[in-house]
Amino acid sequence: MITVFSGGTGTPKLLQGLVEIIDPEDITVIVNTLENDYFSGVYVAADMDTVMYTLAGMINQETWYGIEGDTFITHDTLKGIGCPEILRIGDEDRAIKIQKTLLINKYPLSKAVDIQRKKLGINSKILPMSDQDSHITIKTTEGDMDFHQFLVGKQGTPQVLDLHYKTVKPAPGVIEAIKNAEMVLIGPSNPITSIGPIISINSVTKALKNAYVVAVSPIIGGRPVSGPAAKFMKARGYEVSCLGVAHIYQDFLDKFIIDDIDAHYKDEIEKLITEVVVTQTNMNNLQDKVNLARIIFG
Ligand code: GDP
Repeated sequence: MITVFSGGTGTPKLLQGLVEIIDPEDITVIVNTLENDYFSGVYVAADMDTVMYTLAGMINQETWYGIEGDTFITHDTLKGIGCPEILRIGDEDRAIKIQKTLLINKYPLSKAVDIQRKKLGINSKILPMSDQDSHITIKTTEGDMDFHQFLVGKQGTPQVLDLHYKTVKPAPGVIEAIKNAEMVLIGPSNPITSIGPIISINSVTKALKNAYVVAVSPIIGGRPVSGPAAKFMKARGYEVSCLGVAHIYQDFLDKFIIDDIDAHYKDEIEKLITEVVVTQTNMNNLQDKVNLARIIFG
C-alpha cells in the first residue's frame, strides 16, 4: 500500500502514472483542504475534486480544475442575473459540488468524500487531510487576503510578505494511512500551501519520521511548473529551488527526486537526504508520468 500527499496539479498528474503501474486499490491519497470554501452557495474543495476527477478519468487536463467537456450554463446564468460567481464552475462539476455541500451538512468531509469517490467508481481511498475548516491569510503589499482573493481576484500578482494558517486535526484514517504504508509519497505539489498544511499537523510529521518517505520536487530549474509556489517559498524564507524544497522536507525525507536540469544540486541535497535521484520530472504526457512513477519505486 502506498499513501500519497496531494495538492491539485502536479501530484494528480503523477497519480495518472501511478495507477498505470500499481493497483489503484493499493493507493490512499491524503489531500490538502486549506483552500476549501463556499462560493455561490456551494462548498468548493478544489484540490479534493481535482484528485477525484483525475482518478475517475474525467479531469479537465488543460486547467487541472473541473471536468473535461463541461458546460457553463449555470455559471453564465448566475453571472447574468448579478451573482458574483468568483469561480467559473461547470455544470457537471457544480452538481458534484452541490452533492458534497448537502453531504457535509450531515457528515464530516471525510465521509462525504468517501461516498462521492465510490459513486464515481474510484477504487483508491481518498482522505481529506482534515475534517476541520482551515483559513489562510496571505499578507501582501496590497493588504491581507485569502487564497482565492489572491489567486483568482488578483491573479497571484501581489508581492507576498508572509502567510498564516491554523493547524488542524487530521481526519480519521490519515495517521493510520501513513503508519500502514510501505511508502509515503509526497507528490510534486506546492510545498507551502498544498503539502505545507498537511505536514503542519504534528501527528503527521511524527508518523512520517517512522515511515519510508519519497518526494518529487515541484520546483524545476528554480521555478514551479505552474502556480504561486515561488512567491510563497520566498515569503517563508526558502530558496526557490529543489534545494529549498529539500530544506522543507529534510526532517522526514528518505528519497528525493529532482529534475535533470537541477543535477548540480545533488551533492548539496545529499547532505540533507540519504538518497537523491536525478531524472526527468516534467510530466508532459502519460509516458512521462509512468516513467516517473517507475523511478519512484526503483
Ligand atoms: P498550486 O497550484 O501552487 O496551488 O499547487 P498544487 O499543489 O496544485 O500544485 C502545483 C505544483 O505542481 C507547482 O509547484 C508545480 O511546479 C508542480 N507541478 C505541476 N506540474 C508538474 C510537473 O509536470 N512536474 C513537476 N515536478 N511538478 C509539477
